[in-house]
Amino acid sequence: MAVTASVPYRLPERSSEARPRVDASRPMRLTVLGATGSIGTSTLDLVSRTPERFEVVALTAQSNAKELAALARRHNAKLAVIGDEARLDELREALAGTGIRAAAGSSALVDAALEPADCIMAAIVGAAGLKPTFAAASQGARVALANKECLVSAGSVFISAIQRFGAELLPVDSEHSAAFQVLAGADPQSIDQIVLTASGGPFRSWTREAIAAATPEQALKHPNWSMGAKITIDSATLMNKGLELIEAFHLFPVSVHKLDCIVHPQSIVHCLVSYVDGSVLAQMASPDMRTPIAVALAWPDRMAAPTEKLDLARLATLTFEAPDEDRFPALRVAKAALRRGDTGPAVLNAANEIAVKAFLDRRIKFLDIAALVEETLNAAERQGAICPAASLDDILAVDELARVLSYEKLSGY
Ligand code: NDP
Repeated sequence: MAVTASVPYRLPERSSEARPRVDASRPMRLTVLGATGSIGTSTLDLVSRTPERFEVVALTAQSNAKELAALARRHNAKLAVIGDEARLDELREALAGTGIRAAAGSSALVDAALEPADCIMAAIVGAAGLKPTFAAASQGARVALANKECLVSAGSVFISAIQRFGAELLPVDSEHSAAFQVLAGADPQSIDQIVLTASGGPFRSWTREAIAAATPEQALKHPNWSMGAKITIDSATLMNKGLELIEAFHLFPVSVHKLDCIVHPQSIVHCLVSYVDGSVLAQMASPDMRTPIAVALAWPDRMAAPTEKLDLARLATLTFEAPDEDRFPALRVAKAALRRGDTGPAVLNAANEIAVKAFLDRRIKFLDIAALVEETLNAAERQGAICPAASLDDILAVDELARVLSYEKLSGY
């Protein structure tokens, strides 16, 4: 079993010795990968409120050329890149006369990440974000990481790349941003436990029978957060919390058994850190991604975010309950992949991407998502595909194999 990160990572500290990545005396050169998505538009919303703080370098999308062009025009970007090459003409047309460069294709997405910048918001969804985010790391800049797949699929390889290139990694996922703020460079020996909170999703109080019959429309109605479709389904299955435990394992200097999660339906407390002296420190904020995004953009300072102020008297009650892995088996499957280590989480992620799409396409039922992922993990183990990985290419090969195995399993549903 290999469940240790190959290179232990310490998140940047707020100490005076911390190397200032971003020169506060000039605007931050910012690239947003996945600019048209939920995280991308929230990031650019913050930019539009303090435009003097930012200089937008490159914006990317996959197929939404019209929106990408509109964002590039609004933020006076230097470069706009669309993943789908068939949309390049549309993008060029929409940018005509602006002087904004346009490009298309997967290598152009990598080039966008390599365009000199102080901070790259990595917000492409899925394993498609791996190559561009690795490219962002290679320029030694700040990587504000929303794309959780980099840590889930390629955790130790990605952390090694961050360290090798002297990049600065700041988490954007709200729970990890919360842990980052609460830990504040704490001595790893003093940490007893890191507990991530989960809203429980739309089916938190449903019976297993009702959950088994849940439709995509029901699963896409998240009670607290407004997010892209993939992560919304992951929140409904609780796979998202499993993916986040894997992320936390690579980000924070604690062993697997010191990581846990708890259901907190109000999504106000995002993470709790217990210390060996019995103190428990938590971070609270309204469920709005503009808070963790602002933390990552402005760190080590703070910038204003237009989020709803917390009114605890009005909220009155914050509740917590243990997750139910019988009704939400995806959490159990993800925890097993974390404990298995090596490329187990990469297989988990690839299989889950296939399974979520199959559910959204109505090819499988809601609980089949976890079952398909588990079957794929077992098949990958039998084939010896769960093994140590030394490079991004190793990870991408396992990702591809896991997708083939998932499609094979899917044909049996
Ligand atoms: P969305 O689906 O809303 O947006 C995804 C973005 O990536 C869009 O700009 C999309 O372009 C682009 N994209 C999609 N497929 C590809 C591809 N194959 N190649 C290149 N670009 C692509 O996702 P979210 O913003 O919700 O999530 C982004 C990442 O952040 C995910 O990894 C998610 O897990 C993570 N995250 C999100 C949170 C949230 O609140 N939304 C919270 C924490 C983490 P187009 O619009 O053209 O399709």
